[in-house]
Amino acid sequence: MADIELANVSKSFGSVKVIEDLSLVVNSEEFVVFLGPSGSGKSTLLRMIAGLETIDSGTLTIGGKRCEHLAPGQRGVAMVFQNYALYPHMTVRGNMAFGLHNVGMASSEIERRVKDAARILEMEELLDRRPAQLSGGQRQRVAIGRAIVKEPKAFLFDEPLSNLDAALRVRTRVELAELHQRMKATMVYVTHDQTEAMTLADRIVVLNGRQIEQIGTPMEVYLRPSSRFVAGFVGSPG
Ligand code: ADP
Ligand code: MG
Repeated sequence: MADIELANVSKSFGSVKVIEDLSLVVNSEEFVVFLGPSGSGKSTLLRMIAGLETIDSGTLTIGGKRCEHLAPGQRGVAMVFQNYALYPHMTVRGNMAFGLHNVGMASSEIERRVKDAARILEMEELLDRRPAQLSGGQRQRVAIGRAIVKEPKAFLFDEPLSNLDAALRVRTRVELAELHQRMKATMVYVTHDQTEAMTLADRIVVLNGRQIEQIGTPMEVYLRPSSRFVAGFVGSPG
């Protein structure tokens, strides 16, 4: 079942066309990775799904609902940012709940959602700590918790591991894969890192500026790259 559907989407910044007539279906509970070099339009595509960039033309459907004119908060998606700026004076609980207080949710419902997120992230013991009392990996999990409490149809990640050191990057990558298993949520994940794409994705969308170069499972893209570009970027060296 389609969870996110882009049809004939185009986007320019000034006279520069960044995305041109792009169509894509992300299925429910699928982990889709947008992979491509810097400047290939990955973030722009993700931000259009999130509602942080307008779409010049084409349509966006999320969970069966046309979304291209809806505000970010009404789309049923939640974005996890690269620089997961937490409020230093607030506890983990406060940081996770912040966005929910803003929309006037009942505090009993907020508490239930924060507890659920903490259980999923195995952070129940850390809810009263402040960011300064957390490790880098734990801070990253708080940022993910902020998305979980919104109970979105889909999670959007823009290079969430790029600020972490190498060891933590591997650990968090494994945690994200486990999170996907546990939550059975749709995930769209942007990276320029081949290893992240190969290990996390159900399907990889290779972007090369304006258009999709290839869509396939990690094995398809690796073993049967559709172009020299894909071969150079992710393909088998043989
Ligand atoms: P990626 O995430 O793959 O590195 P981006 O989507 O950030 O690529 O950028 C794609 C292209 O669009 C780049 O050439 C970038 O300079 C341009 N771009 C992105 N955002 C803006 C903006 N707000 N204004 C002007 N140009 C932009
Ligand atoms: Mg980017």
